[in-house]
Amino acid sequence: MLISKIQMEDNLKLLQKQIEESCTSCSRSSSEITLIWVSKFHPIELVEQAYALGARDFGENRVQEAIEKFTTKQEGMRLHVIGPVQSNKLKKAVQVADSIHSVHSLKTLERLNLFAKEASKVLDVFIQVNTSEEDTKSGVSMDSIHEFLNEMPELENLNYKGLMTIGKNTGNPEDSRKGFAFLRKLRDEFYNSKTHFKNFSDLSMGMTDDLKVAIEEGSTILRVGTALFGNRN
Ligand SMILES: *Cc1c(COP(=O)(O)O)cnc(C)c1O
Repeated sequence: MLISKIQMEDNLKLLQKQIEESCTSCSRSSSEITLIWVSKFHPIELVEQAYALGARDFGENRVQEAIEKFTTKQEGMRLHVIGPVQSNKLKKAVQVADSIHSVHSLKTLERLNLFAKEASKVLDVFIQVNTSEEDTKSGVSMDSIHEFLNEMPELENLNYKGLMTIGKNTGNPEDSRKGFAFLRKLRDEFYNSKTHFKNFSDLSMGMTDDLKVAIEEGSTILRVGTALFGNRN
């Protein structure tokens, strides 16, 4: 059963209230925060329903699914690839995506740049950091992220937007706080530190279960699936 438009609207209202309250509690403005609707595993009908409710930023984990659902985009739609991309899918990812949140190798940056040039576009890029230090998660390790950021080359067709991380999956959102704070410090350190970091201001962190902590720690981009679309099958 797909969730109805009314149910989705209720979910959105509840989520917006939660975001407002979290912002108020730490004296932030919710206008600083972009909401990505993570539509993975949900059919195109629900994407259209979300669009009708005002959703413009969508997140997908897998390139193939992104292509199926977002090759033709409605006006103003932006597609964010938020999951790890296999090297043989990079080209397709660049073609469909406006932004990739899961980059964690320098070689990938060079290749993304080439594909972006081929596609005549400038691709927004986030560097994923493995702040949870769980082996199952991808991302640059906390130990090597400084070196990584120092080595990132200036590339014509890439726009470095900021950092991304996934919180710890322990059931307690407080366990993610340290990792989120680490990401914010890193952003503060590198934002504007070089010409190609002049837009490096975004923090893509916070999902359904840990968005309050993420907002308190400075998130500017929330990636929310379950709270909007309901459970995934
Ligand atoms: C699935 C996914 C999300 C959304 O998770 P929810 O808990 O459903 O909000 C966010 N970020 C990434 C990287 C994901 O894979």
